[in-house]
Amino acid sequence: MRDDGLVLPGSTIGVLGSGQLGRMFAIAARRMGYRVHTLSPDEDTPTGQVADLEINARYDDLDAVRRFASAVSVVTFEFENVPAATAAAAAECCPVRPSGQVLHTTQHRLREKTFLSEAGLPLTPYRRVDSLRSLRTAAFELGLPGILKTADFGYDGKGQFRVETEADLTAAWDGVGRRESVLEAFIPFESELSVVAARSADGNFVHYGAVENQHVNGILDIAIAPGRVPREASRRAVALARQVLEALQVVGVLCVEFFLKRDGSLSINELAPRPHNSGHFTFDANVTSQFEQQLRATCGLPLGSVTQLCPAAMANLLGDLWANGEPDWAAATALPNVKLHLYGKMAPRPGRKMGHLTALAPTVEQALADVTEARARLTRRQ
Ligand code: AMP
Repeated sequence: MRDDGLVLPGSTIGVLGSGQLGRMFAIAARRMGYRVHTLSPDEDTPTGQVADLEINARYDDLDAVRRFASAVSVVTFEFENVPAATAAAAAECCPVRPSGQVLHTTQHRLREKTFLSEAGLPLTPYRRVDSLRSLRTAAFELGLPGILKTADFGYDGKGQFRVETEADLTAAWDGVGRRESVLEAFIPFESELSVVAARSADGNFVHYGAVENQHVNGILDIAIAPGRVPREASRRAVALARQVLEALQVVGVLCVEFFLKRDGSLSINELAPRPHNSGHFTFDANVTSQFEQQLRATCGLPLGSVTQLCPAAMANLLGDLWANGEPDWAAATALPNVKLHLYGKMAPRPGRKMGHLTALAPTVEQALADVTEARARLTRRQ
């Protein structure tokens, strides 16, 4: 890194974590002439397959983390459940962006919710739960139905249990492993939105607008951009996202997920301090993708244009699509406006994100129809 904080092309960037987000980051970085090292406990990973160097070590092997960070100019992460001690060990050797503090706040639901409520941001009503008794009290205070979520290590609906009636409380408490959790009131939302945004070290802010998200079983299924939401909700979501990035002093990319309620108001569901699944369309549809934006912010370069070149819709490809054999890639790619992304994962387990499709079209309705059709073609002949 130079004295002015710039990390220029030709330098090496370290990525903690090795999934598809790191893979797409590495593709953006290598395109701009950077070298990429990745560290995670796994081998032959989505990121490792396109990085210059894949280091296989546990996140709590702090000596390995220090050696990794000493060999690069800057470290970023693609997975927010990297332990805070890992980010701190890396920060002894080189800058870490976003900072370990951002990671620490956002990797724990209670810390994240405390931060949001202290910042005056709207969030889903919740209570901290640390025993079956406190769960009963929380259910009484919030009312049911609700969703019990573990305080740490939750994503894609993992570690979550729906509580319909009091009879479900014991099973839900056992379900979260009797660990510190939050009970959230169930929000009968109109739709789900997200805003992916980036902030540079000198405080510039850019965003990709409000994206409309459809989930199935707690996992993102389809993202539509621009989202079909009232202009005022979209404007407000962006303003709230800006408040979040500024309050957290993020240097990098962060996604804010929202529930849009029937009365038109917004509640923040959760934050992800990194590129997000709902921003994958930017890889194909925008002048600067969310991954290049993370690279630019991490390296101290000016942020790129977020202009979206045309409406887009993204559909995730989960391991379930492999249930009856290899999907029919030729049939899906026969739609010329659909882009296929596969993450190089070997084992297509149900619920596992294996890839995605993005359709580009003159209208979001057409993009949605095309991406849906392309995904259906993958399994039509099976
Ligand atoms: P999360 O992992 O917390 O983002 O939850 C995954 C998905 O579960 C969300 O995108 C929603 O579709 C649903 N969900 C989570 N929390 C709530 C809630 N409090 N009310 C209604 N739906 C929820």
